Amino acid sequence: MLYFGASGQRLIMTTISAKLQAVIVRIDAAARKFGRNPDEIRLLAVSKTWPATSVREAATAGQKAFGENYVQEGLKKAAELVDLAELGLEWHFIGPLQSNKTRQVAGFFDWVHSVDRLQIAERLAEQRPDGLPSLQVCLQVNVSGEASKSGVAVAEVPFLARQVASLPRLKLRGLMAIPAPVDDFAQQRQAFAQLRETYEQLKGDGLLLDTLSIGMSHDLEAAIAEGATMVRVGSAIFGERNRT
Ligand SMILES: *Cc1c(COP(=O)(O)O)cnc(C)c1O
Repeated sequence: MLYFGASGQRLIMTTISAKLQAVIVRIDAAARKFGRNPDEIRLLAVSKTWPATSVREAATAGQKAFGENYVQEGLKKAAELVDLAELGLEWHFIGPLQSNKTRQVAGFFDWVHSVDRLQIAERLAEQRPDGLPSLQVCLQVNVSGEASKSGVAVAEVPFLARQVASLPRLKLRGLMAIPAPVDDFAQQRQAFAQLRETYEQLKGDGLLLDTLSIGMSHDLEAAIAEGATMVRVGSAIFGERNRT
């Protein structure tokens, strides 16, 4: 698409579908570089702050899974896209989850990546409607220590994982983390490696997990190097969000 800016210069606007394709190419390249099978890495398109029309564009280009951080915003967008039902879109809740929002999340979303305490998991289990498939759950782990306020501490993961795995109507799939943003590749890998170690430990203890939800626009290559099975990518697909 070609636009003309206010001062008359030509601006080349890359379409969502082209940016989506570029992200898929990045994922494939990283997978190949680090000896991974690209088919084992799912792309979650993080559509927070972007309108339903943007989601529609990505969905029409073949993207199935979308991540939202705010309950109301996600529900509203999904309602505007009911005509796409045949595409089988999947909605993932990835934002901080307060107990007064669990009912709405349990009633609509397919996945929740941000469970970081037992009370929230218990509410989700209790409120998940019987007619829906189990809610797919990841535990959000704090791998950056004091730099982050959300996420369960690494040392507490095994206990929480056992508890959550035993709850009805939830299916514990794995772990999620949002490390403090750094530019250095080796440093990016380090935080993800810590999460991977915890993940392998849980699997070694007998939990049937298959999801390591790590990697965003700026660090998806490092995440793939450390075993990511789902990367959550927003700005590289939809554009830079306005900082408010
Ligand atoms: C916003 C967000 C993302 C996507 O971040 P980008 O840098 O835009 O790719 C991924 N995960 C979570 C939890 C987010 O809040």
